[in-house]
Amino acid sequence: MKTGILGGTFDPPHMGHIKLALAAKEQLGLDRIIVLPAANPPHKKSMTSPRHRRNMAAIAARQYGFELCEIEYLREKPSYTADTIAELKKLYKDDKLYFIIGGDSMLDFEDWYKWRELIKMCAFAVGARTMEQKKAVEKAANEKRECFDAEIYVLDFTPDEVSSTEIRGGATKEAVPEKVLEYIKKNKLYQGF
Ligand code: ATP
Repeated sequence: MKTGILGGTFDPPHMGHIKLALAAKEQLGLDRIIVLPAANPPHKKSMTSPRHRRNMAAIAARQYGFELCEIEYLREKPSYTADTIAELKKLYKDDKLYFIIGGDSMLDFEDWYKWRELIKMCAFAVGARTMEQKKAVEKAANEKRECFDAEIYVLDFTPDEVSSTEIRGGATKEAVPEKVLEYIKKNKLYQGF
């Protein structure tokens, strides 16, 4: 089985995440997408509780027919992707794993913990977050393929240029899946909703 893993903070999940995952699924012929909310990401400070972010990720996943994986959410210590992928490889030992990331993640990949090991652990599906980012993402992917024999697929799609930060700041609500929006309102998670 070909399994795509979409990790994120999901504070909140938005159509940029969904579009990225759907493009990976379609273009790489993935059998399923697993959404992996981070509890306490080492590189980000989040004001929204892990429980609310997990719940929003679960709602978005259900709406789009994705599965939810709670291994990072249930871990108390900060999770590093390299450790998580190692664990997922054991959990889904018969599957081929594709870690799905946005272009920004590809461009700062060398800052990731144990990135040289991580790059060899699974395949990667990368989607640029903006049209301007496309060339840089292609270049970074080529370098990683040539230097590390990495398996990286750059997705071909027009990105939804949205971020959770913009949504939290109230700049846009349209990019939030309907049921997630209801959850945000009910739980008064962000100002202006
Ligand atoms: P924040 O604004 O809080 O930093 P974010 O919008 O970047 O959040 P994350 O949950 O951190 O969302 O992202 C999870 C993954 O989805 C990352 O690999 C990120 O690059 C990717 N991603 C996020 N938004 C988009 C988008 N609009 N298009 C493509 N990929 C995206």
